[in-house]
Amino acid sequence: MTTQNIDDEAILNTIDRFLERDVRPHVKTLEHADEYPFEIVETMKELGLFGATISEEYGGLGLSAATYAKIVERVSAVWMSLSGVFNSHLIMAAAVERAGTEAQKTAYLPRFATGEIRGGLALTEPDCGTDLQAIRTLAKREGGDYVINGTKMWITNGLHGTCFALLVKTDPKATPPKRGMSLFIAEKGEGFNVEGKIGKLGYKGIDTVTMHFDDYRIPADLLIGGVEGMGLNHALGGLEIGRINVAARGVGVARAALMDSIAYAQTRKTFGKPISEHQSIQIKLADMATRVEAATLLVEQAARAWDRGERCDMEAGMAKLFASEAAMENAAQAMRLHGAMGYSTDLDIERYYRDAPLMCVGEGTNELQKLIIARQLVERFPI
Ligand SMILES: Cc1cc2nc3c(=O)[nH]c(=O)nc-3n(C[C@H](O)[C@H](O)[C@H](O)COP(=O)(O)OP(=O)(O)OC[C@H]3O[C@@H](n4cnc5c(N)ncnc54)[C@H](O)[C@@H]3O)c2cc1C
Repeated sequence: MTTQNIDDEAILNTIDRFLERDVRPHVKTLEHADEYPFEIVETMKELGLFGATISEEYGGLGLSAATYAKIVERVSAVWMSLSGVFNSHLIMAAAVERAGTEAQKTAYLPRFATGEIRGGLALTEPDCGTDLQAIRTLAKREGGDYVINGTKMWITNGLHGTCFALLVKTDPKATPPKRGMSLFIAEKGEGFNVEGKIGKLGYKGIDTVTMHFDDYRIPADLLIGGVEGMGLNHALGGLEIGRINVAARGVGVARAALMDSIAYAQTRKTFGKPISEHQSIQIKLADMATRVEAATLLVEQAARAWDRGERCDMEAGMAKLFASEAAMENAAQAMRLHGAMGYSTDLDIERYYRDAPLMCVGEGTNELQKLIIARQLVERFPI
């Protein structure tokens, strides 16, 4: 074992202890009250989770994508919502670290890493999510500032976070439109208005909001990288790791549904024997477990490619597609296997069933992942 392996193992053990001690006992209460986990967030700050993938140079833990994915898997197996508190925050941080100026990095990354400033990614608008080049939020240069007007929707951490990587148009006439798109580090202030939480099927506890920018003024030196027209690249560059995150969430939920089912199948009896001895239940468990193992390997493959600095949009797309569908299927199968109890709010199965669909939509829908995979196949295997 290398020193790195030992360090990673120690981090994962710490995460396991945190989840069993500080998270699991509170999940049902927080989930059903749709309450933000303030105390848990404080412990997450102490653990350094808000700086998990930020370089040590800027105060983070500098974890590899492979180790980070394992953390996301473990967290999501206990409470998927909790992973959202730091996932999109770290995508914002990654955009600043990869594309920001040195001044932006030194001003923001250490405070992102401690969790003093937390936030996320503000890309989606009421009229567009997949087709980001159609966004309408506009930033107009006025002297040393930009003045921003527009609306963002479905923004995670929007209520309790204070800083967002905000995608806007700086030149709405540019062709292709992406050449007129820019990404800002936008902290809450005058003109940055947040509506209350959006009601959701699942992903409870974490805040998802609509944001209105009404003559919101931002200094020009908060344009990420300092150059207009690079915003879509900066935002999408982080989405590969975002997709690996979502895939890891899918593995977590799929695995939790499997483990709960294995346990229930051994205790629930029908016709004089545990249901695990009925062949149709055994087939369900075998299918569920195979999906979990395959999804785990796809996530590992994508994360390792990212860590080696290789292009991995196809690998991340495959992992995201397969793992999120695995979560959907395993949640549905766990619901059937549990009979009426699967429908009860006393167990976690109904939560997996409500949470799983988000992974098929977030960070690019699964339909979009298929387009990305197919494009890459043609590019990598030309005739
Ligand atoms: C709980 C939650 C949290 C979220 N958090 C964030 C966040 O923090 N920040 C953020 O910016 N966004 C966030 N989102 C938004 C999310 O990223 C978008 O919902 C997603 O990108 C899809 O966009 P859309 O909903 O506008 O769907 P649309 O783009 O309107 O798509 C509708 C349907 O058409 C399909 N489709 C679209 N284009 C094509 C095509 N070319 N070919 C085939 N099919 C196509 C899609 O796959 C989908 O099935 C969140 C969403 C949810 C539900």
